[in-house]
Amino acid sequence: IPVDAFDLVIFGGTGDLARRKILPGLFRRFLAGQMPAEARIIGVARSELDDEGYRTEARAAILEFAGEEATDRESLDAFLGTLRYLVVDARGEGGWPELAALMRADVVRAFYLSVSPALFGDIAGRLHQHGIADKASRIVVEKPFGRDLASARALNASLAEHFDEGQIYRIDHYLGKETVQNLMAVRFGNVLFEPLWNSHYVDHVQITVAETVGVGGRGEYYDRSGAMRDMVQNHLMQLLCLIAMEPPSQFDADAVRDEKLKVIRALQPVDYHQIVRGQYDAGQGTPSYRQDVENPRTHTESFVALKTHIANWRWAGVPFYLRTGKRLKGRVSEIAVVFKDLGHSIFEGDEKRHRNILSIRLQPNEGIDLQVTIKEPGPGGMRLIDVPLDMTFADALGPERNDVSDAYERLIMDVIRGNQTLFMRGDEVEAAWAWTDPIIDGWQARNDVPKHYDTGSPGPEDALMLMHRDGRRWREIR
Ligand code: NAD
Repeated sequence: IPVDAFDLVIFGGTGDLARRKILPGLFRRFLAGQMPAEARIIGVARSELDDEGYRTEARAAILEFAGEEATDRESLDAFLGTLRYLVVDARGEGGWPELAALMRADVVRAFYLSVSPALFGDIAGRLHQHGIADKASRIVVEKPFGRDLASARALNASLAEHFDEGQIYRIDHYLGKETVQNLMAVRFGNVLFEPLWNSHYVDHVQITVAETVGVGGRGEYYDRSGAMRDMVQNHLMQLLCLIAMEPPSQFDADAVRDEKLKVIRALQPVDYHQIVRGQYDAGQGTPSYRQDVENPRTHTESFVALKTHIANWRWAGVPFYLRTGKRLKGRVSEIAVVFKDLGHSIFEGDEKRHRNILSIRLQPNEGIDLQVTIKEPGPGGMRLIDVPLDMTFADALGPERNDVSDAYERLIMDVIRGNQTLFMRGDEVEAAWAWTDPIIDGWQARNDVPKHYDTGSPGPEDALMLMHRDGRRWREIR
């Protein structure tokens, strides 16, 4: 179903994110027939380009990043025809009147701020001064949304000067993933899970976001940030919220976000013994973290594992283990809800611990499976084995739909539709920082030194111990 006609202005239209995710994602929506013929994409940046120059750059980006679909040259030309470009200086006056003149009335106006957050305030202000944005316009902002509570509040305040909360779309692309939405369908669309979704039946929950890559070209930014700010405060917290929240009264933006906010506010402070930071060493032909960020004395973490609790009735006593890191053994994003053991086994000689585990995989092979125990087939007697009850749907959608651009394109279409359900609200982001800040401040106050770990490992030994101490273990990173 096509969305309404729109003018989408991408500030930072020549940047890395626009090239890798936003433009290829929009092209795919165009191919799917969701972008109406009257829609326009207006790239805005400082580079001296004209429409044709921008189209040439966009073509190269799409050929590089849109996968096989970019081979449809006719459609690509038609898509590029929807692109415009203007040189606009976010901090100066140049280009703003031209942008104002280019915008059309009677279409959805959306502004994607794919630029440094330092420019959010400038852009929001000028959009208003020049009469480019109005009460119906939408503004999309990227992570990082602040580096602590104070800066997030300041960012929220600078946006709030010109935009209502209902116009602000804070992107966390994890929320745009097919599986994340399917998690909500599975949780709230079935009678099976809700009765078990609590401390009576759930032993613990573990969330892993493991990457094999290092910090890449983002060394300077990353070293000022670290895994806690870059991953835990946003992506892992959002996943935790979706697993732990109470059922919203309906699937609408504020009902969902109210419930997520309650989870974040109920998160207990993390004890310093329940958190492990790590930094990768050189290995497998790749440099160490310190070499990657060109800072031989840095104590920034490229890995975090922690244990926390949610102080409410549903989750009393259930530990939530979170871990994320770079240069690990595999690339996995997974949430596992590990159910309790049966107190007693009626099967003689069956000493293995059988557990039901609901695992929600965001990558690779997006999908959900439920580990159940059955009889090993054959005449060998009553032997039990664990098998996955597979709810994978990736095959049905085709492999090319299972990556990050898929999330971006869905979220951008949600912006045009005016649906904020999968975007973070300002108070959620602030509450997440309020929980994260004391952890980071504590490291600083103690001058905490991260543990080293081998490239290609599951992380530092201490992270394994964090679980072992509790008689539990992390799921394997494959
Ligand atoms: P980038 O440095 O590649 O691009 C920045 C863009 O902003 C360029 O188009 C540049 O011309 C424009 N710009 C800079 N100063 C400007 C000014 N004064 N006026 C007008 N335009 C100006 O950055 P990026 O990697 O595309 O990231 C953009 C934002 O998205 C950042 O906030 C980043 O943290 C965030 N982000 C990026 C990624 C990614 O994969 N690249 C992922 C998540 C979040």
